[in-house]
Amino acid sequence: MSNILDLAGIGAGPFNLAVAALMWDKSLKHRFFEAKSEFSWHPGLMLPGAMMQTSYLKDLVTPVDPTNPYSFLAYLVEKKRFYDFLNAEQRTVSRQEFADYLGWAAKRLDSLEMDSRVQSVLDKGEYFELDIHGPKGQEIVKAKNICVASGKKPNIPEFCRPQLSETCFHALEIALRNPDVQGKRVAVIGGGQTGAEVVINLLNRQWGKPEQITWISRRSNYLPLDETPFTNDWFTPEYVNVFRQLSQHRKEQVVAEQKLASDGISPDTLKELYQLFYRLVHLEGDTNRMVLMPNREMLEISKCGAYRVQLQNHLVGGTEGQEWLDADIVILCTGLSEALPPCIAPLQDRIARDGEGRLLLSDSFAAQLNSDESDRRLYFLGTGRYSHGIAEPQLSLSAWRAAQVVNDLHRESIYDNQESNNFMNWISPGKNLEAAVA
Ligand SMILES: Cc1cc2nc3c(=O)[nH]c(=O)nc-3n(C[C@H](O)[C@H](O)[C@H](O)COP(=O)(O)OP(=O)(O)OC[C@H]3O[C@@H](n4cnc5c(N)ncnc54)[C@H](O)[C@@H]3O)c2cc1C
Repeated sequence: MSNILDLAGIGAGPFNLAVAALMWDKSLKHRFFEAKSEFSWHPGLMLPGAMMQTSYLKDLVTPVDPTNPYSFLAYLVEKKRFYDFLNAEQRTVSRQEFADYLGWAAKRLDSLEMDSRVQSVLDKGEYFELDIHGPKGQEIVKAKNICVASGKKPNIPEFCRPQLSETCFHALEIALRNPDVQGKRVAVIGGGQTGAEVVINLLNRQWGKPEQITWISRRSNYLPLDETPFTNDWFTPEYVNVFRQLSQHRKEQVVAEQKLASDGISPDTLKELYQLFYRLVHLEGDTNRMVLMPNREMLEISKCGAYRVQLQNHLVGGTEGQEWLDADIVILCTGLSEALPPCIAPLQDRIARDGEGRLLLSDSFAAQLNSDESDRRLYFLGTGRYSHGIAEPQLSLSAWRAAQVVNDLHRESIYDNQESNNFMNWISPGKNLEAAVA
């Protein structure tokens, strides 16, 4: 078994970087494979002024291993900016700085192999076999366990797909595309954080001066991300442990109820936007440049010269609520959706799923493998919104999540992931939660 890894990681975004950082003592044999030739973190949305929605203390390691060499504080000290950082009194850091921190950690982790795409994973019974296309050509790697953290894919409504082009695209690529919006009518579809950041940058003429910007939100208004203290308690290991005990039916309801805890616009961003609109309209007298349209759902899009977007105004409803919008450029800020990487397609039949087709994940994020007697593990990070709750696609718990994986690999608590003293009494002892279907 000597040439068989204990763990192979697929992808090196923040979720797997956290796993790699917690395995730094090298007591288990591991390699992490990343398709990109150089580390970057969502470079297509690295827009000027974009801030993190998560504390820098929720970095790759600190919540479970504060003396680990890959912490954000270690990064600050090595970069000789510790005192300046404190004096700047920032509650959160810019996305640019957090990406630089992640890249700093990635460069120091020698288990990480860049320019190495995992093409396929086969099940060989005792181990998994990975076909890797790396800088030196093809390599076959054997691993007893695999940790998949390969990110999400852009969520594009089906009816939009035929229109995708240089002038109709998902925002995930906007900073790489640098679209020329000079003198154009731009429609921004989506009222979340990305939509807000795109609108700010359009107003700040990042890509030229648009003739008009129309911002469409399906929600009833431009709604804030709830970042208040008690809501943040939903992003704790204690809450995940409670959520795990709920019936599947309750989990679905709770995820829907908690949407704005993970999906709204940062209050600071909303204030910045409102002040920009105020200046534009009242001080510059430019009353037509910005059109805000909440409550509108995009139903269809066609192109005949310009784009024609069909909208439904849900505040009005019915045929009275039918509206049309003409635009030269359409930017889809329609979010990301969960996706498993194509390389694991050969394992699809082996992975157990629930009635909705979602992965059945253990407390330590290992998928249940159909009729499998062996003790191999296939971990999935970032895909368990309905198994582990709304914190799952977020950075908040990446260190804790990684510690769950590393403890499970070791079959012992290398990292103390026990619940802390939390004053929230989420459930009373002795209740049969599985039976408590509302
Ligand atoms: C713009 C933006 C900002 C965000 N900001 C926050 C925030 O402030 N706070 C927060 O909590 N969450 C935030 N999120 C949500 C989430 O934390 C991030 O999306 C995070 O990057 C997810 O990490 P990941 O490692 O799962 O995936 P990714 O960061 O997407 O990384 C996946 C990696 O896997 C690689 N890969 C894929 N397939 C293969 C393969 N076959 N072989 C090898 N490599 C492969 C990809 O190249 C990629 O580098 C943000 C998301 C976005 C899009």
